[in-house]
Amino acid sequence: NTFNTLSLSRPVLKGLAALGYSKPSPIQSAAIPIALLGKDIIAGAVTGSGKTAAFMIPIIERLLYKPAKVTSTRVIVLTPTRELAIQVSDVGKKVGKFVNGVTFGLAVGGLNLRQQEQQLKSRPDIVVATPGRFIDHIRNSASFNVDSVEILVIDEADRMLEDGFQDELNEIMSLLPSKRQTLLFSATMNSKIKQLISLSLKKPVRIMI
Ligand code: AMP
Repeated sequence: NTFNTLSLSRPVLKGLAALGYSKPSPIQSAAIPIALLGKDIIAGAVTGSGKTAAFMIPIIERLLYKPAKVTSTRVIVLTPTRELAIQVSDVGKKVGKFVNGVTFGLAVGGLNLRQQEQQLKSRPDIVVATPGRFIDHIRNSASFNVDSVEILVIDEADRMLEDGFQDELNEIMSLLPSKRQTLLFSATMNSKIKQLISLSLKKPVRIMI
């Protein structure tokens, strides 16, 4: 069981080797092939399971398969906190280190809004965001466009709902293209998460590790 059997590209395999990842974790083995097929996923995965790479690897592969015709933001990753957003973005940059031209942006609270606006204007491929700040950007900034978003990741969905982001999540879902792939990660499942799932995912594959 190696990353080679997951039919990943050479630059991504090189990035994983540089990270010191020699074989996929269980969540990675299960999620990567399904995500590469473009299917929606609900994954029950805790911190420490390797969930970040489980979505970053197929995201970067999918951006490679289908080059963008225009410069546009194609992936949104939502996380409950700024710290987690920065970690997720750092993992993505490392996985994509040897991939030409993949770009990242952050839309999180606590960092300078104008500076972020400038960064988002350049239409990074992958934007990692917290829900509140993401909505501020969509509402206030004519420059930030989500019409080309192909993939949405909802990371730590349970924590986001616990933190009271339900309305923000619903608003974000309504603003993103409905024809998209959605990957939802949550350590726990409850009725609120099931409601979010029914609103935001289509025929999801469930992965419980
Ligand atoms: P996460 O669950 O995404 O927060 O990852 C937990 C930790 O596992 C992080 O320190 C990762 O760098 C590490 N990690 C993730 N995938 C692998 C892998 N395939 N091999 C070794 N370490 C990994």
